[in-house]
Amino acid sequence: MKTEKLFLRELDSAVSGLKGIGKALKSELKALEILTVADLLSHFPRSYEDRKSIKTLSSVPVRTSEGVIVNTVAEIIGQSYIGWGSKKTLKVFVRDNTGTGTLVCFGRSFLSRVLIPGRKFFLYGKFVYRYGEFQCSDFDMEPISGEPKLFGRILPVYPLAGKITQKFLRKIMLQALKEHADRLEDELPHYLLKEYNLLSKREALKQIHFPDDFKLLEKARKTLVYEELFHLQLQIWRRALKRRSCLKAGKKLSFKLKAHLLQRLPFKLTEDQQRVFSEICKDMADPKPMARLLQGDVGCGKTLVAFLAALVSIEAGYQVAFMAPTELLARQHAENAAELLSPLGVRLAFLSGNVSGERRSTILKALAEGEVNMLVGTHALFTEQVRFRSLGLVIVDEQQRFGVLQRLALTGKGEMPDLLLLSATPIPRSLALTFFADLDVSTIKTMPEGRKPVITHLTVEGNEEKVYKRVREEIEKGRQAYFVYPLIAQSDKLGLKDAESMFHTLREDVFPDFSLGLIHSRIPEEEKESTMVSFIKGEIDILVSTSVVEVGVDVSNATCMVVECAERFGLSALHQLRGRVGRGEHQSYAFLVYSRDLTEEGKRRLKIMKKYHDGFIIAEEDLKLRGPGEITGTTQSGFFRLKIADIASDLDVLQQAREDAVNILRADPGFILPEHSLLREVFSRVNPFAGAITEGG
Ligand code: ADP
Ligand code: MG
Repeated sequence: MKTEKLFLRELDSAVSGLKGIGKALKSELKALEILTVADLLSHFPRSYEDRKSIKTLSSVPVRTSEGVIVNTVAEIIGQSYIGWGSKKTLKVFVRDNTGTGTLVCFGRSFLSRVLIPGRKFFLYGKFVYRYGEFQCSDFDMEPISGEPKLFGRILPVYPLAGKITQKFLRKIMLQALKEHADRLEDELPHYLLKEYNLLSKREALKQIHFPDDFKLLEKARKTLVYEELFHLQLQIWRRALKRRSCLKAGKKLSFKLKAHLLQRLPFKLTEDQQRVFSEICKDMADPKPMARLLQGDVGCGKTLVAFLAALVSIEAGYQVAFMAPTELLARQHAENAAELLSPLGVRLAFLSGNVSGERRSTILKALAEGEVNMLVGTHALFTEQVRFRSLGLVIVDEQQRFGVLQRLALTGKGEMPDLLLLSATPIPRSLALTFFADLDVSTIKTMPEGRKPVITHLTVEGNEEKVYKRVREEIEKGRQAYFVYPLIAQSDKLGLKDAESMFHTLREDVFPDFSLGLIHSRIPEEEKESTMVSFIKGEIDILVSTSVVEVGVDVSNATCMVVECAERFGLSALHQLRGRVGRGEHQSYAFLVYSRDLTEEGKRRLKIMKKYHDGFIIAEEDLKLRGPGEITGTTQSGFFRLKIADIASDLDVLQQAREDAVNILRADPGFILPEHSLLREVFSRVNPFAGAITEGG
């Protein structure tokens, strides 16, 4: 039975079957998500200790606090103690054939019985020049007798939890590799292994944990990264190609309504708007259902393009659904639509959770009978009772706010409607390739003419007075301002500013002569909305809030965006916040107030905000600094968990893997590899598509 070949994922016997794992350790391993032998073998090192290359004591520099890792054969030459009694600390003097050093054995006085003068040991540890000698307090030793266990090789350093030690993990890893690795089957087609000169699965696992040398380690990593990304792409593209092979009736397009609307506008479409509009039209005319992401910074004119697409769809005889993530935003879209589209004869309706009773049933009836051309609203558009007569186009604004599940539910209405997703959160190319492979992407890069870039100031906490003074000048000129805080209400623990307290401070002490409003998510919907409306009308000068203003509100007279405790916000959030201003003819400003004890990384992040205005560059930088999950908002849904590949640094491999996966699927749409050992976990836990199918029944 032992000789039978199997896939890593099939090593599903409990890790507690390995020697030396008691109950306590079993639960600690669980904290590392290691339940089975397969989990253990896919718990990859975060770094390595090179105990192979000799590094002698003479390599430690003198008179600097910079330490050097020494890996040498050392002879004990003496012992002494610092301090007295129970607090005394053992010092052991050693030498190799280049120099001498001192081991400071804090709390390890028992070592005096082992580290006896004359004995020789392998020694590994970080030495620093201190008090006229080379000292080391964190070291590992092994007597020189027989085969060295931990020396003469490259050792893995694992992520740990609880009482689990490196020593323990290394031991059980070695054991698991010895007992199981040789039975493992490859998880990539052989021609790909050969083409890229990759290792077999079993060799890759051995080398990633206990590399023979750094070259093989690199090769092992390359193998596992490629394998993981290849499988990821295979899954995504199988789905994407399947969707693309569905057919609908291609729309017969004509552009009378569109021309009417454009005549009524005081401006011309930008080149980018024209280009993306024709990309969308091409999709709508095609028998393949459109699935297109339209991305571009806030204010670049996406909504207008979406309205034009809606007109074309309506003229072709189809209904349109336009969905926004919040009631406020949905209403704003509905008002815009009423102003721009109703005069052309488009029949509009609005639906949200708050529309109920008779009004609701009237709307639903009109919709089912085809009396309504375009339904604007929140996700209430896609609840059970909503039936369209001929839904031809679904537009989703700020699509990143919706889960992938909702995205699916909404294309389930009608016969494969075209799908147009709008996003102001620029999705870096690498992520687009990874998660939105089933979408085509159109990008608007340029802003309409006449927009002035927002001037961004970074201000350290304590200098807020200066910011408040600048804001005062703007308001006295007739402009308006946003003040944004990371918290709703006071929290002693965090010691951060919050919207509620600052609302009172600003209103009573700083701007007693202006009118202020407050919104955050705990304020009732109606009150929030009436405050927003007053702000839009200019009755309120200063709007104090949490990041709820991030999405969509459009007040062109607002020229100041003040964000306090700015380091608490992600770069993408800051970019969105800044996008709330600079929407009109006036010069606008963003003031990012940061805390005194800002970390180096924090400083780097804020400098990026000052330097760049292009959302795509900011998103790429954000990706580099934070890792991908947070950007796409997938952290919560958790479906983004690669074990070894790193989307930012392994982008080349990702692209190659994508090409290979698509080629295989094109040649053989039914191509199936055994599920990937690592990805299975990723997808079974979270694969939103798998979930959707069972949920839908
Ligand atoms: P987005 O949806 O990308 O945030 P909108 O479509 O809401 O942007 O457009 C923002 C503002 O710019 C709106 O007031 C809109 O009327 C205006 N706008 C759109 N396209 C143009 C254009 N080509 N020239 C001038 N202004 C435009
Ligand atoms: Mg918008």
